[in-house]
Amino acid sequence: MSRVYNFSAGPAVLPEEVLKETADEMKYYQGSGMSVMEMSHRSKVYDKIIKDAEQDLRDLMNIPDNYKVLFLQGGASQQFAMIPMNLMKNKKAGYIVTGQWAKKAYQEGKIYGEAIELASSADKTFSYIPDCSDLDIPDDVDYVYICENNTIYGTKFKELPNTKGHTLVADVSSCFLSEPVDVEKYGVIYGGVQKNIGPAGVVIVIIREDLITEDTLPGTPTMLKYKIHADAQSLYNTPPAYGIYICGKVFKWLKAQGGLAEMKKRNEEKAKVLYDFLDESKLFKGTVVAKDRSLMNVPFVTGNEELDAKFVKEATEAGFVNLKGHRSVGGMRASIYNAMPIEGVKKLVEFMKKFESENA
Ligand SMILES: *Cc1c(COP(=O)(O)O)cnc(C)c1O
Repeated sequence: MSRVYNFSAGPAVLPEEVLKETADEMKYYQGSGMSVMEMSHRSKVYDKIIKDAEQDLRDLMNIPDNYKVLFLQGGASQQFAMIPMNLMKNKKAGYIVTGQWAKKAYQEGKIYGEAIELASSADKTFSYIPDCSDLDIPDDVDYVYICENNTIYGTKFKELPNTKGHTLVADVSSCFLSEPVDVEKYGVIYGGVQKNIGPAGVVIVIIREDLITEDTLPGTPTMLKYKIHADAQSLYNTPPAYGIYICGKVFKWLKAQGGLAEMKKRNEEKAKVLYDFLDESKLFKGTVVAKDRSLMNVPFVTGNEELDAKFVKEATEAGFVNLKGHRSVGGMRASIYNAMPIEGVKKLVEFMKKFESENA
């Protein structure tokens, strides 16, 4: 059985080298005589795995010492609640609504305090990023929230919003480690790893230390307090141990590839192949305003639902899988994360050209 080109938005493609290496280690991890799945998270062997993972992530992203790195569970969706529970001291926060994930976070924020929609691109089906250079932000908001890369709609903030001095909180689930970032511009960066890093079940939170306090909203469960996890270095309870191990392998793979600057270069190259084709195609077209296009998630349509379905079916048969658009928007979406080789994108474009000539 050979591997397909997997364009899934998440869980998504992982580097083949990492799968091979972890398969080799699956039954006997190094000298331990057991699988990482079977070992205590308090063991010396595991302690090195989680510490190395954190250090490699710190190296890759240049994370300053005054930020904590937490490996948590509950997915990105759990953070929609954890962020207000821990950060809403004034019970007020601003949300920029650029898609379904941002909207869900905004709606969750409303449970805990006054969540204010600072800007939105709902008027044009989230096909662009609103101008966030001079937003009307109340002085007493606790943070400004964005979803930096909109997985479903395929838009990305190319410039961060002007928060006017307020703490920026960003969901980077679908652009995590796709390019270098300036961590200091954020109070919190978080994401589920199943898009661009590892297997589902791990969410990474990078948070500035001064935002980690005892002062959480009344009723906040122990497990949802950043301080509990930060003080215990992500080992307050049993962490998603195997998932963290795989993430660590991916961090090492990224380092060996040349780090995030190299990933950015490759991701730009890959996305260009697809966007250039979409711009010239007579059949397919992209759905996003050009300047806001994501490097990771590329939605496109033919304009005809039946033809879309035919394309997805034939593409699947040809080994290009998971190209169906999100159930809420239809059409197609190619997710081209770090682990998708450029050959996969080039071959997809060849296939699209062939389909276009056959269906003109
Ligand atoms: C997938 C996704 C989520 C939801 O992640 P879960 O881990 O399933 O909760 C949230 N935000 C973004 C940007 C996503 O792509």
